[in-house]
Amino acid sequence: MSRYEFTLNPYSGCGFGCEYCYAKFFAPSAEHQETWGRWIFVKANAVDLIIEACRSGTLKSGDKVYMSSVTDPYQPIEHKLGLTRSILQAILACGVQPRLTIQTRSPLVVHDIDLFRQFERIRVNVTVTTDSEEVRLRYEPHCPSISVRLKALATLAAAGVPVGVSISPMLPIRNIEAFGARLAELNADEYVTQYMKAGRSRFAGGTSIEAIGKANEDGWGVSEYQAARTTLTRILGKKRPLLEGAEGYAPA
Ligand code: SF4
Repeated sequence: MSRYEFTLNPYSGCGFGCEYCYAKFFAPSAEHQETWGRWIFVKANAVDLIIEACRSGTLKSGDKVYMSSVTDPYQPIEHKLGLTRSILQAILACGVQPRLTIQTRSPLVVHDIDLFRQFERIRVNVTVTTDSEEVRLRYEPHCPSISVRLKALATLAAAGVPVGVSISPMLPIRNIEAFGARLAELNADEYVTQYMKAGRSRFAGGTSIEAIGKANEDGWGVSEYQAARTTLTRILGKKRPLLEGAEGYAPA
């Protein structure tokens, strides 16, 4: 995230607990890694910190902010707590206009459309990993369904909020032509994809051995991914280039 001045994570941990998640390797202990998906820490002082950052000039208009880098800012608990919403309200109340990029896979994001429309530069990226509910249930059973994520993208776009589609990691796709056509209809500002990231080190996360094992069982290797990416690139066309990995996720 070197292209951003700030990353903003209202929560740590993640209730979605995807099988392939890299973020779990940065959990505070081995026990937290083992139980990834079953705990959430709420940054209760996040609003105070944001207000202080805005007032002191630490966070300024034009700063590039990525929310969030290691968790989803629209956790299921956000429905009850509204912490992400309160942070956005606090930034707006301070009169600061950062270049805000939001990354989520939750339909809860549409509840904040009223706030998004008050930011001058914003993009909301929604992660859509596959076209198949069967595949989703195999790799990310606690996540929202694919159809509600596509609906959230369409709702955001219809409200005039710039959107991005993050096909990351790309899981097995059942009907790439139909999937590509559906994504193209969204006319997103950014499309980005990548395969699962094999291997990890002390300083870099990677896909779990279990998820890579499932992909192997499913016959979904790098060459299958590359073939799907080539087809998707053709369907999306030159006006909607399909970026890969670090090429994508540009600041809004
Ligand atoms: S939603 Fe993102 S942060 Fe949460 S478990 Fe899935 S991949 Fe990890």
